[in-house]
Amino acid sequence: MPMKDFSKIISELQAGNEELELARAKADALFLGIGEGAIFTDEKGMISRVNQAAFDMLGYTQEELLGKWYPKTIEVYDEKGELIRIIDRPITKAFLTGKAVTMQVFIKLKNGKLLPASVTSSPVIMDGKPIGAIQIFRDFTKEYEIDKMKSEFISIASHQLRTPLTSIMTNAHLLADGYVGRLTDEQQIFMNNITFSVDRMHELISTLLNITRIEAGKVAINPKETDLKRIVQEINNELQPQIEAKKLTLTSALNYDEPVMTDPVLIREVFANLLSNAIKYTPQGGKIRVTLKKDKEEIVYRVKDNGYGIPEEQQDHIFTKFFRAENIVQTESVGTGLGLYMVQGIVENIGGRIWFESKEGMGSTFYFALPNTELRGKAGSTTIETTIRS
Ligand code: ADP
Repeated sequence: MPMKDFSKIISELQAGNEELELARAKADALFLGIGEGAIFTDEKGMISRVNQAAFDMLGYTQEELLGKWYPKTIEVYDEKGELIRIIDRPITKAFLTGKAVTMQVFIKLKNGKLLPASVTSSPVIMDGKPIGAIQIFRDFTKEYEIDKMKSEFISIASHQLRTPLTSIMTNAHLLADGYVGRLTDEQQIFMNNITFSVDRMHELISTLLNITRIEAGKVAINPKETDLKRIVQEINNELQPQIEAKKLTLTSALNYDEPVMTDPVLIREVFANLLSNAIKYTPQGGKIRVTLKKDKEEIVYRVKDNGYGIPEEQQDHIFTKFFRAENIVQTESVGTGLGLYMVQGIVENIGGRIWFESKEGMGSTFYFALPNTELRGKAGSTTIETTIRS
């Protein structure tokens, strides 16, 4: 190779090196200067870099973190103070899915305290293979405190409203049902309006109370031999008046008869909410089909309707607190967006799964799968209230 070509290659290489150095310096500055805590782990989960914000937040020194196995060195806990298993941590999920995963957790600091934080783990992929992950920690104390205050406020307000509301409800029903004398037709219309509204208020308060109990982890779980088929039939019957009022056709195929060790009160609430939604969100003359069957190791309750459906772009939010889809807000004014949030909390308590498929204008199918294993009981200071009534 002539000398000239050789020196050209060298100078090109040098230029490439400089570019690389510059890119590295920029990446370094970004990593170290990030306002949030940041930890870089290699493909085995060993900590290779930590920025100052992370040292400040966690209280550890360089020696205590660098070269250590991240999942064991930095422990994260859930709301109930239970250690989150490695398999359920964002870093593991990020590696498994190849996508960034965010979770709200409580990080154990060097001083032993638990810090509410939002953790995002993003895998770093090269040539299709993960070569490491970056974890970003954001201090969540403020948001957590506000959320706690909101829950406490809701809990106190609901408790205080409960007693007078129960009295109004009982007396209104006595009047409306003619126990204290016949009403004129006009009076009857007014009383029916009152009982309808007071029942909705009662339902809302019960749902709010249930949610605060679930969120606080206070709900007792009482497994009993449970006849799921009978519960489904009872709920189908209880909601018959609503079904008839909308001239809907309800059919069912209940192909599971075996007793299951689970909590019938919690199960009933899930079934009732899913059927009640199908009724609410299916227009006059529509069809609903309820099935119960075994599928591998699970027992699956399914409610299929041919109603309004859920717009695709809003489907991710369906189990979020207070969320109601746009198409529904326009057609059905009664509702709070709390039912499915509560149901999801119940499902987590009984170790089941819930999901749905839906197409706007075509209908929705909600599934609730229960493991066919014995549910473990849990002591708790309270249980949940029935929210759905005919
Ligand atoms: P609510 O019924 O009080 O609005 P939910 O939490 O039970 O609250 O439901 C949340 C939202 O999910 C509803 O407002 C509606 O947009 C949607 N949804 C739930 N079930 C169905 C269904 N079967 N068909 C269509 N939309 C549904």
